[in-house]
Amino acid sequence: MNKIAKYLNQHIIGNVFDSPQILEAYATDNSPLKIMPQMVVIPENTSDVCKTVKFVNQLSNKSVYIPITVRGSGLDKTGADLSDGIVMSTEHMNKILEIDDRSRLVRVQAGVTLGQLNSALALYGLTVPILANPRDTIGSLISNFTTDSAAGKYNGIYYYIDQLEAVLSNGDTLQTTRIARPHLSHKTGLTSFEGQIYREIDKLINDNSNLINDLGNRSTIDASGYQMVTQIIRDVTKSFDLLPVFYAAQGTLGVITEIILRCEVFQPEVSHFVAAFESVGAARDFIQDIMPLIPQELNLYDARMFKDAVEHGKDPALFAPKFYKGYFVWAGFDDGPRKSAKKMKKCLSLLPHNAAAVMETDENTTDFKRLKSAIRSYINEDIRGERTPIMDDFYVPSDKLANFLTDLKVMEETYNQELPVYGSFSTSNYSVRPDIQLGTVEGRQFVLKFIHDFNSLVREHGGSITGGAPEGRTKALATNDNMSDDEINLYSEVKRIFDPNGIFNPDVKLGANEKDVVGHMRTTYLNKVLE
Ligand SMILES: Cc1cc2nc3c(=O)[nH]c(=O)nc-3n(C[C@H](O)[C@H](O)[C@H](O)COP(=O)(O)OP(=O)(O)OC[C@H]3O[C@@H](n4cnc5c(N)ncnc54)[C@H](O)[C@@H]3O)c2cc1C
Repeated sequence: MNKIAKYLNQHIIGNVFDSPQILEAYATDNSPLKIMPQMVVIPENTSDVCKTVKFVNQLSNKSVYIPITVRGSGLDKTGADLSDGIVMSTEHMNKILEIDDRSRLVRVQAGVTLGQLNSALALYGLTVPILANPRDTIGSLISNFTTDSAAGKYNGIYYYIDQLEAVLSNGDTLQTTRIARPHLSHKTGLTSFEGQIYREIDKLINDNSNLINDLGNRSTIDASGYQMVTQIIRDVTKSFDLLPVFYAAQGTLGVITEIILRCEVFQPEVSHFVAAFESVGAARDFIQDIMPLIPQELNLYDARMFKDAVEHGKDPALFAPKFYKGYFVWAGFDDGPRKSAKKMKKCLSLLPHNAAAVMETDENTTDFKRLKSAIRSYINEDIRGERTPIMDDFYVPSDKLANFLTDLKVMEETYNQELPVYGSFSTSNYSVRPDIQLGTVEGRQFVLKFIHDFNSLVREHGGSITGGAPEGRTKALATNDNMSDDEINLYSEVKRIFDPNGIFNPDVKLGANEKDVVGHMRTTYLNKVLE
């Protein structure tokens, strides 16, 4: 075992590993990259995190650089949870510390997963209404600012985080809290690193007020950079809270260790409704008609994806094959059985003549499961190459979607493959899964070219490739070029203020570079985690 790993092992309750077999297990995520860490640290508590970060920071003061990347469940699709230094896994920081059902607040360690949290809350009749992968950790939902498919109705993770605790780059802890302007001096007057952060961020915001206003007023949804710096000061009250800047920061500013979340009263079961349309225009008009019914989720699928699922023996069951060339709309209603049934009947009444639709009942619920299973088959199964998630969760505004899809056809011709779009209409976040031969040089070149071309196409239609999650390593190759010099300077300052020695995840976001990405491209995507 290397000296640093041994030293850390002696000082923390958790574990430090450096054996090749263990490192291998933390070298990949859901991106097309593979990066071998030097060590894997598995802290048990905040104190372990503080000790590790403090030690690494002291080493960097002596010019020994070992970057730290925090990792939750390792599902990231942009390589943002990989490191050639230390991977710090929150898998043992998975305790639900307190549930206060009266005030509907819950305090958790950052490695608690969404599924684990909601199972525990259900016993109290509560939930955090985020419709994302149940394996996503709460720390990463903040760090990746994940836009879930129920965010159109329930506003997403941003709405449910009350406070967090983070370990700063010198090993101190910070508890976020909203501070009324007259009391800000309690923080800016501190002689600690925390005080320095408050002072410098306050000054940065004041010095860049015009730019921050412009960024805050942008209509595009875009999680790249540190755009949430615009939300530290609230317009009306002028109160100050550092919490927003941790959204979409991807572990580059600090290690989130504990979180207090707000909960909602538990929702009853969801009933589904599916409709098939010949064109995207017809699907979009229908969706706009049913939006006032406030579905829990409202998804759109290019039905070409079902052709591939059928090739794998899947039976989308609800519709005849003649519909596998148009668009499917999938809506979920969580208003209780009677009200949901009423809303679905209303959906049926709004359907145009040349469309088909089915609402979920006790009798056909298996067919609905079959349809979901066909979608899952398309997303995960490889046919002509490896179906790698290099372009998940891009944002295109609803009014530009039809034109965007027309122009995407041109890209399909250029790349000589179909690119069926699927995703959430209510949040305007969609994905495409190109087939890639990662084992060939051309395949790996494809990844870089595709990201750049797709970025240009999406931007032409008022969107961003980082709508539902930030840029990490791979998408940053395009998004960093989208930013103005002023924007880059602002974000570089945010990073410098929080992490002057650059120990936290230095190769993602602004620090991403083509050499690093190309050098770590996998030649196979075989050990991907299924979605
Ligand atoms: C392009 C893209 C598309 C996505 N699409 C979907 C989707 O369709 N559905 C869905 O549910 N999710 C989606 N996600 C989100 C992703 O699955 C989750 O946001 C999250 O990354 C997975 O959780 P995890 O615990 O595996 O996080 P990880 O992959 O382990 O980490 C994700 C990021 O969070 C940071 N991080 C993790 N924990 C902490 C912490 N405690 N403190 C500080 N930083 C931390 C990591 O350093 C890393 O940068 C998408 C993400 C990306 C990048």
